[in-house]
Amino acid sequence: MRFNHESDVEAFRAEVRGFIAAELPPEEERARRGYERGFRDNQEEYDYVMGFQKKLSARGWLAMAWPREYGGGGASHMRQLVYNEEMAYAGAPVGNMGIAWVGPSLMLYGTDAQKTQFIPRITSAADWWCTLYSEPSAGSDLAALQTRAVRDGDDYVLNGQKIWTSGGHLADWGWMAARTDPDAPKHKGITMFMVNMKSPGITVRPLINMASRHGFNEVFFEDVRVPATQVVGEVNRGWYHMAVALDFERSGIAAYAGGRKSVERLVALARTSAALLAARASVRHELADRSIEVQAGTFLAYRVATMQARGLVPNHEASASKLFGSEMSQRIASTGMHLLGMAGQLRDGSPAQLLDLASGYLQAASATIAAGTSEIQRGIIATRGLGLPRG
Ligand SMILES: Cc1cc2nc3c(=O)[nH]c(=O)nc-3n(C[C@H](O)[C@H](O)[C@H](O)COP(=O)(O)OP(=O)(O)OC[C@H]3O[C@@H](n4cnc5c(N)ncnc54)[C@H](O)[C@@H]3O)c2cc1C
Repeated sequence: MRFNHESDVEAFRAEVRGFIAAELPPEEERARRGYERGFRDNQEEYDYVMGFQKKLSARGWLAMAWPREYGGGGASHMRQLVYNEEMAYAGAPVGNMGIAWVGPSLMLYGTDAQKTQFIPRITSAADWWCTLYSEPSAGSDLAALQTRAVRDGDDYVLNGQKIWTSGGHLADWGWMAARTDPDAPKHKGITMFMVNMKSPGITVRPLINMASRHGFNEVFFEDVRVPATQVVGEVNRGWYHMAVALDFERSGIAAYAGGRKSVERLVALARTSAALLAARASVRHELADRSIEVQAGTFLAYRVATMQARGLVPNHEASASKLFGSEMSQRIASTGMHLLGMAGQLRDGSPAQLLDLASGYLQAASATIAAGTSEIQRGIIATRGLGLPRG
């Protein structure tokens, strides 16, 4: 199969690889730190990630797909795909919610004052954003969210609780959905806010995941005052603002590029440790399957990106890529454990560790929950992709 990349895209790939080689620590160090898995537990890791993102910004790559009028690079979908692919393969810390959806939403719905205040600080990696959607009783059914925002003079007053807030402990600003009309049908009473995370009345409590990492948090709001000028878009239309398909690269290529790197590391170990393979012959077939899955999944991601490049809006196609990539990453982690046997359980820092798999294995469990669960993705594929009636 041949993909008709634009003529300069492969030259750009080489440029990205050169940048990575010059700016990131050696591969073993990158894998150990696990930044690609979204680790920003503490100030040191945060400073490292922000330092790297400032370098991307200086090069015009942080917001490379944004329109030029907003400080972006106006890059094509295929160029963005190649960039995401190379960064994920290298385990580079490129995730940034401000770039992914806050900025694009402001471009669509923000006031001129909001754009002037926030967009340059997003494109220069001056501010770090977290996303305040999920609540204890509102995840897949996000429109059930209960956190209240009540107008009081020039402000709104927020009360309630959010949960699973990635990076909330380090964020400067929160991108938040709250209920402004409790009497309206649930999709029609939600409004989007930008909240300064240092506001009085906000309490951020850590949630430590089973890999012992502090990635996400609970966030409590007690009479938090937010100026009405920080409402984004129309009051009570927040659901529709949130649901808008943002036309930026969302192919899911990162899972496949990261998966390719993981499979290569396992294969390299299996080649040099004959005893490991001899003890578990079935792992040969598992590694072959994982290798095929990485390749097939990469084409799912390319399909999404090429649709976007042609001006189409991928829907169930993006769900298929997300679903397959997240379940594949769990299978790769399991194959690694099968290969290493009991040694796979050794944690980072152990002198007997052959490969740093334990943390990634535990971390992979969340891939099929974050950003929409597998059941939700299958529902989208069944109804919108296959045209099946709702169950
Ligand atoms: C690593 C990670 C990072 C996250 N970061 C953030 C963040 O920064 N900000 C944020 O707001 N949220 C974040 N989340 C939350 C995430 O969006 C939710 O966990 C997710 O949407 C699922 O919601 P839930 O946990 O409430 O599960 P529920 O919605 O309660 O689901 C429980 C189970 O029921 C199933 N289910 C639910 N509805 C249906 C249905 N209609 N059909 C079939 N099955 C169904 C689900 O698939 C799941 O198996 C994060 C989650 C993870 C794991």
